[in-house]
Amino acid sequence: MSQITLIDTHAHYNRSVMSDLEEQINSVNKNKDVLKIINVGLDNVTSEEAVKISCHYSKFYAALGVHPLYNGSIKALEELYFSYDNRKIVAIGETGIDTKGDIFFQVKKFIESIRLANHLRLPLIIHANTIKGSKLDANRYCLEMIKIYRPLYGFVFHFFQPDLQLIEEIVRLGGYISVGSNIIKPNAKKSLEMVKIIPIDRLLIETDYLFLTKCPNETGKATFNKICELRREKKLLMMNQLNDNAMRLFPKLK
Ligand SMILES: [Zn+2]
Repeated sequence: MSQITLIDTHAHYNRSVMSDLEEQINSVNKNKDVLKIINVGLDNVTSEEAVKISCHYSKFYAALGVHPLYNGSIKALEELYFSYDNRKIVAIGETGIDTKGDIFFQVKKFIESIRLANHLRLPLIIHANTIKGSKLDANRYCLEMIKIYRPLYGFVFHFFQPDLQLIEEIVRLGGYISVGSNIIKPNAKKSLEMVKIIPIDRLLIETDYLFLTKCPNETGKATFNKICELRREKKLLMMNQLNDNAMRLFPKLK
């Protein structure tokens, strides 16, 4: 059987979350299941690390961002973009809304991030997380912001918390939806339904290593197999579809 080798569109490889960064990077380099990885910044330090890693390791690409629950300067991300070789900086993010935190500063950073993405002609990686009991719906809030501030080079809702009613609107606005280990959890009914109805050319796959999985390889494979099963598609065709989708949204991956 041919090798399945996928683009992981969202992962975090940096020293603030892993003490054995070099080992981790080397294991990715050796791993034939991984074609490319978008290493997503959480703040100014990890964004800079992501760029440095992308300059040294062929499979690694970088996204510059300040996560909604982290502190940081969006202006400094722009400086970062121009102070390194930016050919492998493929996106701005992650940015968005997380109801775990105070949203006042999140909104400000989100707007600045959309403006920066447009200025640098890059797509946007969106983090929308609603914790149980919040009055605010992060997905809907982000979507309203998108309608007002208009990311011009595309966007993805990463690790999308399933809301079947929003999919059509996200797609209409040119957005993509990324799924990860949420579709292989035991009670994933809604997530499974979602995978069946997302237009196939707008679906992305991610591990969100190491936040949402501790074993990216197994999780990545299980997530991919689940997508193939739900969409009743051959693995090779699905692999090409998902990798094409990633390269369409993030043209600098090519
Ligand atoms: Zn993330």
